[in-house]
Amino acid sequence: MSSEPTLNPFEISQRQLDKAAETLQLDPQVHALLREPMRTLEVNFPVRMDDGMVKTFTGFRVQYNDARGPTKGGLRFHPDETIDTVKALAAWMTWKCAVVDIPYGGGKGGVICNPKELSLGEIERVARGFIRAIGRFIGPEKDIPAPDVYTNPQIMGWMMDEYATIVGYNAPGVITGKPIPLGGSLGRGDATARGTVYCIIEAAKELGIELKGATVAIQGYGNAGYFCGTLMQELAGSKIVAVTDSRGGVYDENGIDPEAVNQHKQSSGSVSGFNGLKAITNDEILELDVDVLIPAAIENVITDKNAANVKAKIVGEAANGPTTPEADEILHNNGVYVIPDFLCNAGGVTVSYFEWVQNIGGFYWTIEEVHERLEAKMIEAFHAVHNMAKDQSVDNRTGAYLVSVQRVAEAMRLRGWV
Ligand code: GLU
Repeated sequence: MSSEPTLNPFEISQRQLDKAAETLQLDPQVHALLREPMRTLEVNFPVRMDDGMVKTFTGFRVQYNDARGPTKGGLRFHPDETIDTVKALAAWMTWKCAVVDIPYGGGKGGVICNPKELSLGEIERVARGFIRAIGRFIGPEKDIPAPDVYTNPQIMGWMMDEYATIVGYNAPGVITGKPIPLGGSLGRGDATARGTVYCIIEAAKELGIELKGATVAIQGYGNAGYFCGTLMQELAGSKIVAVTDSRGGVYDENGIDPEAVNQHKQSSGSVSGFNGLKAITNDEILELDVDVLIPAAIENVITDKNAANVKAKIVGEAANGPTTPEADEILHNNGVYVIPDFLCNAGGVTVSYFEWVQNIGGFYWTIEEVHERLEAKMIEAFHAVHNMAKDQSVDNRTGAYLVSVQRVAEAMRLRGWV
């Protein structure tokens, strides 16, 4: 047996919970129930491909815990999707919805596929086929999907339409992250990044760091990474000095225009090579001497191998699960201020909640109302976590778990489950 620490995301999520349970001296019956998803669904469904053949696709939907309300969480279309990734992400959604105190439990789903190798028509048929397969298990009062890795508003639109066909009436609240004309909310597009930036601003205030002119490195330049770049500049006056994506990256100590580098990515497929700037790898960017580091790509990038070399004062986790438990300890001991993922990237699901509220009420908000309410939610959640971590002398991730686990446990107790 190898002594290497596990990189299985579900085992990592369980270890994080165990650590919080110990600090909380959580009732073992509550702990046992929270360690596993309440419902796990695997589906295999047929899709007619462009060449006329039928291909079988495998998908998952995990409803982790619904004590606080219907389960909520995104759907990923990814070739490496596994049930353990989905279970971990569903657990994190449970803690995420609880930390921002929105009335949802946590869920997640995914289809094993590579959308880069599918035509638009095939992607639509995968989306509709998946909803036919899981249709009776979701609903506005039951389980509400949303976009995630490699899924987008158009895919949500097709899924909503398929669901409406199955139930026989329009039910826009079944899914969030929809296109605006189909009941999507203003402000959903940049909501994850906006929430991250609100948290970083609060953290900087707590630490006495001036964000104006501060240097920022962003690993991953998809939706979250790109908007983190533009919003760190717009809302905090900071300077983006490095960005990477899966194909490489660029570095310029004088600052990189987050908009221009995005245009370069849109036309060339990558941020790398932008303006002939110095190249930087995905490993190097994590160890840069910057004020703020934003991992906005994938899981397990800050590990026991590189955590000691992280020089940033603040790490704002826009991605889900970028830091392993071993790395967490190293960062905490080195005084790096980590804003843990399920707090830092909760802006997306918070505006999803606003979208669902608007769908149910049939009355739509202005962009100013969305921003104002999102900011209030994020600031409140940030301070709940910051204060908990300080009071209990634990790292911020454990502090966030303490806040969330207590809230979910209380709901389970009040329902009479435990
Ligand atoms: N997929 C996003 C997340 O991981 C958003 C989920 C949602 O809006 O329900 O938080």
